Amino acid sequence: MNREKFIEELKKLNVNIDNRQLEQLEKYYELLESENKLYNLTSITNKEEVFLKHFYDSITIIKVVPLTNQSLCDLGTGAGFPGMVLKIIFPELKITLIDATLKKCHFLEKVICELNLKDINVINARAEEYAQNNREIFDIVTARAVAPLKHLLEYGIPLVKKNGMFIAMKGNISNEIVNIDNYLQKLKIKENEIITFNLPIENSIRTLVSFVKLEKTDKKYPRRYKDIKNKEL
Ligand code: SAH
Repeated sequence: MNREKFIEELKKLNVNIDNRQLEQLEKYYELLESENKLYNLTSITNKEEVFLKHFYDSITIIKVVPLTNQSLCDLGTGAGFPGMVLKIIFPELKITLIDATLKKCHFLEKVICELNLKDINVINARAEEYAQNNREIFDIVTARAVAPLKHLLEYGIPLVKKNGMFIAMKGNISNEIVNIDNYLQKLKIKENEIITFNLPIENSIRTLVSFVKLEKTDKKYPRRYKDIKNKEL
């Protein structure tokens, strides 16, 4: 996706970006490309592909919720998708990026420093461990391409404030949205919306699944990773 098409497609999402933001994305791309060998960040390195499959794709979360100055936590952010991109495009957001891999966190720190971003911090932890002691603190929690939906709900929901939102960004996940009633009940959430669309140009399918938190989460969640993986809630 070239620069013109990127700007045009963002306009369709009602997102206008200025030259400074475009320059920040260009610099982010250069860092991603140059540091990729060192940090093993992404299999996508071609510039037009990064702009489409990482940058544009990250911004599509705006289809679910307007972004202004909320606190937003991105679980399993990897090289910063969607969290870092959202910080660049919606600078008033207060962002927390979490990833279990230390070298990815080093890369994220480097980008934050080079782009001089404020109100954004990086935490090197497993989400289910971080969620033990950081409960009900974010307006929005997101995760793109990190784990099965049920695992994500168990890690992510404890972090969300009451009435806040959890948003999973995935490819085609119709098979993951079945039999989740138990999760809705025990985690005290309700399904909000499922939005399916195709990425421009290459047309691959994307799904945004959102949930609203109705009540505080019981302290027994999240369980340990072994249980999350092996036993249903
Ligand atoms: N969201 C990014 C990265 C996806 S790869 C993107 O869409 O490109 C998945 C990432 O999640 C990896 O960087 C991995 O280290 C991280 N991850 C997986 N399980 C995790 C967990 N339980 N807690 C924190 N990070 C996790």
